[in-house]
Amino acid sequence: MPLTVKAFNPPVVASNSYIIKDAVSGEAAVIDAGIYNARFEEILKSMKIEKLKYILLTHGHFDHIMGVKRLQKNFGGEIVIHEADADCLSDSKRSLASALSFACPPFECDKAVKDGDVLLLGDEELEVIHTPGHTVGSVTYKAGKYLFTGDTLFHVSVGRTDFPGGSTEDILSSIKKLYSLEGDYRVCPGHGGESTLSFEKNNNPYTRGL
Ligand SMILES: [Zn+2]
Ligand SMILES: [Zn+2]
Repeated sequence: MPLTVKAFNPPVVASNSYIIKDAVSGEAAVIDAGIYNARFEEILKSMKIEKLKYILLTHGHFDHIMGVKRLQKNFGGEIVIHEADADCLSDSKRSLASALSFACPPFECDKAVKDGDVLLLGDEELEVIHTPGHTVGSVTYKAGKYLFTGDTLFHVSVGRTDFPGGSTEDILSSIKKLYSLEGDYRVCPGHGGESTLSFEKNNNPYTRGL
């Protein structure tokens, strides 16, 4: 698959952003933007990206969305989020920004998606897999051999389910849905290092028995 993927791990919020680019068409997207800063801009420019097609959000928590508006102002891109988390963007209680004293000016998404929706980067399909549990509208984006799992599945861990709208039962059935995908995938999570689906199936202590 002609997809280039680069990670950006900013300080303070410590959430990962991923930049993906289709080598054939040159079309590009960013997955989550907790922060937008000079380093983020540098990475985009180093990948020869002048504008984005999408800014894909895995869910609506502040540590994944605070840089979105500045990123969009500089590089464009339709803001995409699952319909059940869309309100987080304009509600600092739902995004947890107010509880943790972060400033997150309200904004709206350009496209609300649901399970099974497919977006295109050139000919590359980005599939939306609804993976609720960390939040009601958490999604995983499947692109080529990559899974962008947000705060659903981490390297040897899973997302918290003790925030409003969280559900341990739901997150485990969401991860079971990911584990049932055929073949192996690179897991690119919202926090911490990358992994693979097969490694997590065999080693993640939180998902034993799924
Ligand atoms: Zn989160
Ligand atoms: Zn997070």
